[in-house]
Amino acid sequence: MDISHILNHLGEVREDYHGAVAPPLVQSSIFAFASVEAMRGGFADEYAQHLYTRGNNPTTRMLRQKVAALEGSEDCLAFASGAAAIAAGVLTCVSGGSHVVCVAKPYSWTRSLLRDLLARFGVAASFVDARNTDNIEQALRPETSLIVLESPNTMTFEQQDLAAVAALARAKGIRTLCDNSFATPLNQSPIAMGIDLVAHSATKYLNGHSDVVAGMLCGSQALLREVFKGPYMTLGAILSPHDAWLMMRGMRTLEIRMQRVAESTAKVLAFLESHPRIRAVHHPHAEGYAQRELSQRQLRGASGLLSIDLDVGSVSAVEHFCNALKRFLMTVSWGGYESLMFPVCAVFPRDAALRPAGGLPLSLVRLSIGLEDADLLIADLAQALAGMGE
Ligand SMILES: *Cc1c(COP(=O)(O)O)cnc(C)c1O
Repeated sequence: MDISHILNHLGEVREDYHGAVAPPLVQSSIFAFASVEAMRGGFADEYAQHLYTRGNNPTTRMLRQKVAALEGSEDCLAFASGAAAIAAGVLTCVSGGSHVVCVAKPYSWTRSLLRDLLARFGVAASFVDARNTDNIEQALRPETSLIVLESPNTMTFEQQDLAAVAALARAKGIRTLCDNSFATPLNQSPIAMGIDLVAHSATKYLNGHSDVVAGMLCGSQALLREVFKGPYMTLGAILSPHDAWLMMRGMRTLEIRMQRVAESTAKVLAFLESHPRIRAVHHPHAEGYAQRELSQRQLRGASGLLSIDLDVGSVSAVEHFCNALKRFLMTVSWGGYESLMFPVCAVFPRDAALRPAGGLPLSLVRLSIGLEDADLLIADLAQALAGMGE
């Protein structure tokens, strides 16, 4: 895979637009036809023809071609958000009475979709510890039509053996969807391992500049045509051409951003792992990570999202630590050019007793390593750890 060619040239037919180097932003909702015959052709295959931008747009199509090539899939559809891409994929694979098996700790809105929204329409879901493929197999029912994976997830970095789950599902005629946002297509290729649909929150590394919310869904053309006729066209949660254009601009630097992030993350991990006030570091390449063998098999490289479990006796020490960090912005999301932190304790009432059972420890803080100088980030972490108290 020639990543640099895909990011910088694939799908860009410059002679079609006067040799312009930057791709055109086709900010048009509709496309006109020269004859009834031509218009009939447009209606005959809206998936492939330019008729209406809710279906197809030339700027968005360039982006779709690039992401499909990176993911090694036949095609890709672009959505208004990662959540919309996941929902469209799931809705295509279920109907009333279906059952879905999902990883135990998926992205929170994936969990809501399966547990709350779809339950209202007669779709049942089981959440299982999918680090062990046997647990998935045991949860399968005759009416199971989909397995939803997220490898790794983005708080505790649990992985699934994608090739094994895909083989199990294919043998039983069950479809699989994997959220690949953490790894990016550069570091993991679920399609090549037999997964049917790959979803991305392109808001994260793909765009990489914290200025667009977008989602991608990759798969075979036959399956994406089902998605297109179903939730894509009927729910209409499409990416605007303008955001598609911004995404292509953001993706020009995907490869070098990921290289820089990987180098910095390795340094930050080494610092955090040797620090006495950190109980555990969660990341697929961390020393104490339980699934290191799977990381080596499945992930080509690492991204810069990790979480640390602080060795503290109070929530106020966690608050001191986070409030003291100067080079990490305190916010949700991740994968941008800037370093971020997300304290789990900010989501819950301060009284730990009020916390939902089975949740994450309040001593957990997630970090997203950006493009800043790694030594400066480490110095910042060191001063915040030194002053956090007990
Ligand atoms: C952010 C995120 C999503 C949702 O993506 P949006 O673009 O915010 O809708 C889905 N999966 C994972 C793993 C995420 O981190």
